[in-house]
Amino acid sequence: MRIAIQHCFHLSGRLLHTRIARRFPAFTFSLCALALLFANGSAPAAAQANAPKRLLIYSIDVEGGQSTLLVAPSGASLLVDAGWPNNDGRDVERIQAAMKDAGVTRLDHVFITHFHVDHVGGVPELVKRVPVGEFLDHGPNREDSDITRRDFAAYLKAIEGRPRRIVHPGDTILLPGLNVVVLAADGEHISAVPGIKPAPNPYCATERQWPDDPSENARSGGILVTFGKFRFLDLGDLTGAKEVALVCPNNPIPPIDLYVVDHHGMDLSNSRALVDAIHPVVAIMNNGAHKAGMPEAWQTVHDSPGIEDLYMLHTAEGSDAAHNSPEALIANPKGASADGAYFKVVASSTGSFSVTNSRTGQTREYPRK
Ligand SMILES: [Zn+2]
Repeated sequence: MRIAIQHCFHLSGRLLHTRIARRFPAFTFSLCALALLFANGSAPAAAQANAPKRLLIYSIDVEGGQSTLLVAPSGASLLVDAGWPNNDGRDVERIQAAMKDAGVTRLDHVFITHFHVDHVGGVPELVKRVPVGEFLDHGPNREDSDITRRDFAAYLKAIEGRPRRIVHPGDTILLPGLNVVVLAADGEHISAVPGIKPAPNPYCATERQWPDDPSENARSGGILVTFGKFRFLDLGDLTGAKEVALVCPNNPIPPIDLYVVDHHGMDLSNSRALVDAIHPVVAIMNNGAHKAGMPEAWQTVHDSPGIEDLYMLHTAEGSDAAHNSPEALIANPKGASADGAYFKVVASSTGSFSVTNSRTGQTREYPRK
């Protein structure tokens, strides 16, 4: 059964980012359904009822923006950011492909970290295609630039008449089976996560001075997701000064299993005081081929104590081989025939998890130690 499922995933992963699969997605998934039916014998429904409880996390390729889908064991869903606009709805198509793989047809929550176009730009297309329960964001745009004012206005127009909730540090997002806490929003941050005692952060003493950042990046909403012993951290595009304010002198963030690398691996973010203190087991950098994935940030994450693997959505083509991960850990390496491959994380409440590269179908396991 395991082989059948892996084969099925491999097939769908390979096909998903081909033109054939985009035109005939039902074909791809009916093959999967057939494989699963044979694998499970005569009682797929019963098997599903007894299936182990898993949290699914998809790091979707939106070419240097962010879109991350979380689906709780209960089926409740949260999308963090919606990628870029235009490109014939490319990013929303990729979000829908991940939703289909996860077996969800609606999004209970869409959390917009901040109002830059690589995060919020996909919302107008998203609302045309996908039912959304509520939108969450940090409140009004704070950036004094015409382009961000325009993108914020487009977002407000797109979600007009739909439920919208402004979140503050300490707020929670309800996904049955998970604990989702907002750590940062609108330039403010939490000083303690309920139930977790902040610890003095030894990496603050050597941290450098980071410049103030008047952009929306510094207003990014950030979340900590806890599923039993498994912890996931996504701080959007939070920049260095705000990262340091969050984790120094006392760090409220517990050790992390999966870290979405801040700001696509820009070196305006990813201070050592943050990255070293959270001890990620695995990090995923949502860089584009020609956006972010900068050498300094890559090195910081790569060198953080206890890290096992640093995944990248693309080869950072402006960087060098010494600051790119091995090809097996890259979803869309330089020279690949198509983009759009993603990472799928399957986490258990024991803290063990796996990461599958949809391009290769290969899965790496990270057992709880
Ligand atoms: Zn961004």
